[in-house]
Amino acid sequence: MMNTDNDMIQEQINEIFSAQKVQALKMRSSTSLLRIALLKKLLNWIKVNHEDIRRAVYADFKKPYPEIDISEIYVVTSEINHAIKHLEGWMKSKKVPTPIIMLGTKSYIQFEPKGTALIIAPWNYPFNLAIGPLVSALAAGCTAIIKPSEMTPHTSALIRRLVEETFDKSLVAVVEGEIQVSQMLLAKPFDHIFFTGSPTVGKIIMKAAAENLSSVTLELGGKSPTIIDLKADLKDAAEKVIYAKFLNCGQTCIAPDYVLVHESVKDKFLSLLKAQVEKMYNPKNKGIENSRDYARLVNSKHSKRIKHLLSDAKMKGAIMYSGGNNNEPEKYFEPTIITNLTGDMEIMQDEIFGPLLPVIGYADLEEAINYINLKPKPLALYLFTTDKEIQKRVLKETTSGGAVINDCALNFLQNELPFGGVNTSGIGKAHGYHGFLAFSNEKSVMKQRIGMTSTKPLYPPYGITGRKIIDGLLKWF
Ligand code: NAD
Repeated sequence: MMNTDNDMIQEQINEIFSAQKVQALKMRSSTSLLRIALLKKLLNWIKVNHEDIRRAVYADFKKPYPEIDISEIYVVTSEINHAIKHLEGWMKSKKVPTPIIMLGTKSYIQFEPKGTALIIAPWNYPFNLAIGPLVSALAAGCTAIIKPSEMTPHTSALIRRLVEETFDKSLVAVVEGEIQVSQMLLAKPFDHIFFTGSPTVGKIIMKAAAENLSSVTLELGGKSPTIIDLKADLKDAAEKVIYAKFLNCGQTCIAPDYVLVHESVKDKFLSLLKAQVEKMYNPKNKGIENSRDYARLVNSKHSKRIKHLLSDAKMKGAIMYSGGNNNEPEKYFEPTIITNLTGDMEIMQDEIFGPLLPVIGYADLEEAINYINLKPKPLALYLFTTDKEIQKRVLKETTSGGAVINDCALNFLQNELPFGGVNTSGIGKAHGYHGFLAFSNEKSVMKQRIGMTSTKPLYPPYGITGRKIIDGLLKWF
C-alpha cells in the first residue's frame, strides 16, 4: 500500500471512529424498540439480497449454495430472530439478593452498551462471522466497525454494501483491507474488540488491545478431537463426521480435526468413512472434482499448505487410506483419510483447516483422554458412544470450549448455548444472550437508604458494639 493510500485510510478510520464515539453516547440510552428496529433492517436487507450473498460467497471459494444457505445465512437470520425475540428480557436489570450486612440496600445489574466495537472477521465463513457478531453488538447497543477478511474480496465488498445501504456510518461502518489496515484499526481505543481468527493472530490482537485496555472476545481455533468409542453407532458416526469435516472443504473452526477410534472398531469405521465420502460427494461416480456439493480451498497458499501437510505425513510413515487427489490451480483437494500417524508429523501439531482427516486407534479410553489432554485446549470435542458413563467420564476428564455427544459442530446452531473456546481456542463467548453480554458492561448498581444503615455501627471509632457485630459476622456468616 502506498503512503498516500495509508494516509487516506487513516483519515477515514479517524473520521469514522470519532463519529462512532459520539453516536455511542447516544446509544447508551437506546431502548429495545430502537435496537430491534435496527436488527429488523439488517434482517430485511439479508432477505432481499439473499441471492447476492450466495453469489458473493460462491465467487470466493465455490461454496455450494445449500452450504451458504445454512452456514452463512440461516445462522445469521436465526441469531437476529433470537435477539429480536429476547432482547427486551436481556436488557432488563437483574435484581440480586442482599447479604445480611447490607440489610436495607437494594442491588441489581444494569446492562449498558460497552460503546464502540471493532469486529475483525476471518475468511472461512466470511458473511456469518462478520455479521453474526454485529447482531450481538447492535443488540447490546454498541456501534461497530467491521473489518472483513481480505481473502474473500467478493463477500467483503458485499458486506460493505450491506452496511452502507442499511446504517449510517456513525453507527456501523466497514473498513476493508489487509493486515496493515487491521493494525491501524487496532491502534484505536475501542471499547470492545471481537476477533475471529487464528490463535497466532489472536495473540497480536490481545497485545494491541492491552495498549488501550480494550476488552476482547477472541474466537480462535485449534485441533478439535472426535472420539469413536466401541459402543458408538459406527454408521451414524461416520455420516456425521464426514459431513462436519468436509463441509466448507474442511475450513471450519469446529470441524473434527482428527479422529480417535477404539482399535477394535477402527477398520470397520475407516471403511464406513470412505463409503460415506463416496455417498456424499460422488453418488453418480462422476468424480468428486465434478461434484457441485464440494467447496474449494480459499487460495493457492492454502492448497500448498494442505499438500505439504499430506506429503510431510507420508514421508514420516503415514498411510493415505483414501483420497489425496488434488488440482492446485483449481484449489481442489479431495476429501482425504489418513492413518498410521505419529506426533512428529506436522498434521498432528497445528489445526489442519482443510480436507485431511487423520484417524488414530486407541486401546483404552484413558489413552484417548490423555492424548487430548496433552494438546492445547480445543474449541470443540465430539464423542460418539451410547454409553452414558463414558459420556460423563469424557466430559469430566477433558476440557474444551464446547462438546457434542453423538454429533459434530451442531453446537454452533444452538443459540441458547455460549459459543467459544478456552485459552488457546478462545477467550469469551458469543451467540444469543452470551453475545449480548460480550458487548455489554454489567454495571453493578446498589441503592442505600438514608440515615441509619447496617454498616454505620462499623465505622470508627471502633467500639464494643462494632466489635460484637464483626465477631458475629465472622462466627455466623
Ligand atoms: P487470521 O487470524 O489469519 O485472520 C483473521 C483476521 O485477522 C483477518 O481479517 C485478517 O485480515 C486479520 N489479521 C491477520 N493477521 C493480522 C495481524 N498480524 N494483525 C492484525 N490483523 C490481522 O484467520 P483466518 O485465516 O482468516 O481464519 C482461520 C482461523 O480462524 C482458523 O484458526 C480458525 O479456526 C479460526 N476461526 C475461528 C472461529 C471461531 O468461531 N472460534 C470461526 C472461524 C474461524
